Amino acid sequence: MTSEEIDPVIDPVVDPVGKVPMTKLRLAIVGAGPAGIYAADILLKAERNFDVSIDLFDHLPAPYGLVRYGVAPDHPRIKGIINALRDVLDRGDIRLFGNVHYGTDIVLDDLKKHYNAVIFATGAVRDADLNIPGIELQGSYGAAEFVSWFDGHPDFPRTWPLDAKEVAVVGNGNVALDVARILAKHADDLLTTEIPANVYEGLTASPVTDVHIFGRRGPTSVKFTPLELRELGELRDVDMIVYDEDFDYDDAARTAVSSNKQVFVMDKVLNQWRQRETGQASRRLHLHFFSKPIEIVDDGTGRVGAIRFERTAPDGEGGVIGTGEIRELPIQAVYRAVGYFGSPLPDIPFDKKRGVIPNREGQVLRKGDPSSGSVGAHEQMYGVYATGWIKRGPVGLIGHTKSDAMETVRHLINDLGNWWAPESPLEESVTAMLDERGIAYTNLDGWHNLDQHELALGEAEGRTRIKVVPRDEMVSVSRQE
Ligand SMILES: Cc1cc2nc3c(=O)[nH]c(=O)nc-3n(C[C@H](O)[C@H](O)[C@H](O)COP(=O)(O)OP(=O)(O)OC[C@H]3O[C@@H](n4cnc5c(N)ncnc54)[C@H](O)[C@@H]3O)c2cc1C
Repeated sequence: MTSEEIDPVIDPVVDPVGKVPMTKLRLAIVGAGPAGIYAADILLKAERNFDVSIDLFDHLPAPYGLVRYGVAPDHPRIKGIINALRDVLDRGDIRLFGNVHYGTDIVLDDLKKHYNAVIFATGAVRDADLNIPGIELQGSYGAAEFVSWFDGHPDFPRTWPLDAKEVAVVGNGNVALDVARILAKHADDLLTTEIPANVYEGLTASPVTDVHIFGRRGPTSVKFTPLELRELGELRDVDMIVYDEDFDYDDAARTAVSSNKQVFVMDKVLNQWRQRETGQASRRLHLHFFSKPIEIVDDGTGRVGAIRFERTAPDGEGGVIGTGEIRELPIQAVYRAVGYFGSPLPDIPFDKKRGVIPNREGQVLRKGDPSSGSVGAHEQMYGVYATGWIKRGPVGLIGHTKSDAMETVRHLINDLGNWWAPESPLEESVTAMLDERGIAYTNLDGWHNLDQHELALGEAEGRTRIKVVPRDEMVSVSRQE
């Protein structure tokens, strides 16, 4: 994705009969990740007959969400999307309030007092559960925690226990590949990236020799993308190990290879690895397909000692069934990369099963009022909208948050008649509220300060950028205090 212009196709606003036309929409957006920033951009560019004034809140002192704190540091092309997002903020018509947490620093009643509506774009930051015995042992981690560590997220510990020689990564999506790649890669090969100093030190000391990626389906059913898979084969001093027993394809798999270009490319890559000579590298990255983890085995001291998995086989309908054959592999650490999951927000409905805010095309829904006879049914929660991963669930690329935002913004505009009527809509009233509460918020100038500071730290070491990790340091650099 590039910084191309966003061209929203949005219906013109229709003022509902009997309502006084609005002159200005005061909008709060909670979450300054791609979804929140695209929503602001799309609204500002949309055809409408009212002015817009947008305040963008984020609980982190820096904007960009998972583009800064999820996308792997050795993916500079994707990290570069930040430039497009920064262009949006730098236009100067969106106020940024970083280091402000919805739920503690500000709550729904505050938003109702100062704004006509709110869009929640709070994404997903935690790991989905993997319910197998032993998953709670020491040495068992969630991918999201590890990603947060290597991407220098301020709310995670500075040190990471990289003491395992053999590691399992459970999952067959791109996050599993990110985790496995960062674990297997030599730390010096990450020095061209923006990784913080503590991450470089941690990875340098890692004794890892073997990283095993487990997927319960076959090679033609993975959720990887070809570019990310191919990249593994280019790692210095790392052998790619694939197992011949996983390539005995059935008809469904053969059809997938011949009918789907992505599958075709990935099958080709994997088959090239089958032919490669191995044995010279000091580290190995193994891909185990048709292998369903069923237990993490205790080493006798409460730590991860092995992974037990069941071999699976194609069920003839594109899925797999267990074969009953159980295997065990010694490992000392396991990372589950089985998906991210959204977090509930105070006063906002939450779908516990899917980890999203219940919504209809971005209009937030809540359980119907029993007194109105609509028990069980859902009704729109006026003035409240959702977009991005918290709306749709944690799947899809950054680009998808753009189409999400278009849909949500279209409804926001067309719902004009049902916006809130705030008692203090003036822009100054928000800064006054935050100041009164003693919240050390960061703003766009503050982000520029931090950005320049990180670039300067990098330059001093011959690198592009070195991230600042501690929250208080991020805030003091931003606020120049
Ligand atoms: C490990 C990983 C790697 C990825 N790599 C790629 C890639 O290479 N290419 C690609 O296209 N996509 C990639 N993605 C997907 C991409 O990151 C998402 O599609 C995108 O970030 C979702 O955007 P969002 O704005 O909905 O959520 P987020 O990016 O998560 O942004 C949400 C924002 O809300 C803020 N927030 C949350 N709760 C609160 C609160 N209570 N109060 C205030 N603020 C709050 C957060 O701090 C955050 O800044 C990756 C995702 C992960 C997890």
